[in-house]
This record gives sequence, structure tokens and C-alpha cells, in this order.
Amino acid sequence: MGIPTKIRVSSAAAQAERYDGELSSKALPRLGGLLTDAGGVIRVSLQAQLRQGHVALQGMLAGSLALLCKRCGKSYDWPLEAEVDWRLVADEASERALMQEFEPLLVEDDELQLREAIEDEVLLCLPMLPRCESCENMVASQPEAAAPMEEEPRRENPFAALKKQLKSD
Ligand SMILES: [Zn+2]
Repeated sequence: MGIPTKIRVSSAAAQAERYDGELSSKALPRLGGLLTDAGGVIRVSLQAQLRQGHVALQGMLAGSLALLCKRCGKSYDWPLEAEVDWRLVADEASERALMQEFEPLLVEDDELQLREAIEDEVLLCLPMLPRCESCENMVASQPEAAAPMEEEPRRENPFAALKKQLKSD
């Protein structure tokens, strides 16, 4: 099965559906807007199943996305590799209960917007400061001069200063 836009959660779990396929960044407008023209492709491999009473969607997102290096301004291929362990929940109480251990996704009307959820996950994985490999190496080999230690302004205790004055008299 490819990557449907949306899935019916109950039947996905009941039939242990598996989603294997590729998504082009062109099909994901929010992500596409952050990439250079070369775009990219995300390989998706997700398995739906029941886990401890909840519908789980587990698997991998991988691929290569063209990002703009913030240092040299060139497009470079950034490797995506993200493990997915979602629990699809219908209400906020279960969402809160699962939050410690898993990544709960709130689902409405038994329907999950699968492509959107994948896009959200990839957006979260993107580097805050994209840098191509050679710029990354450059930065690593030339560590920026350590910022000078912020010296705490010394403020003399006015009474101590007064004492000193009195002593010297
Ligand atoms: Zn660069």
C-alpha cells in the first residue's frame, strides 16, 4: 500500500495495514517551501497495529532533502532518518497519559491525515541551522574564539569602603 492522504484509524489497526512508499516534497507544501528547488523524496515505512489497547503507527522516515546552507548559501542534501512511534488517540486525556512514553497524535473522527502527520514529523527533524558538510567541517575545525568570560561587575560594599577610609585615617 502506498501513502494515502488519510487513513481510517480503526480499520488500519484491525487489518494491520502497512504503508510503504515514497513521498515527494512536492506533495508536501509546507516542507516543500523550506527546501531548495531540488526538493527531495521521503521514503516511508509505517506499520499500523494495536499496542496495549492503542493504535500504534511505527516505522521509519528516511530520505534526502535539499536544504540551503546558511553559511555558504549553496544547496546541499540533508539526510533524513527518523524513527516513528506514534500512538493514535481520540481524546486529550489519553494524549496526556501517553505523552511520557510515546508520541501521541490526536485523531478526530477515526481519521488520520497521514501525509500531514508525516510532514509534521519531518518538519520537526529539520536542522535549525542548516549547514552543508564542508561548512560543518570548517566550523568544527575552527572553533569560534571562546566568548570572554563575562566578568561580574565588582561592586564594593559601601560600608566596607567606608571602613577602609576610616582605618586609613
Ligand atoms: Zn555551506
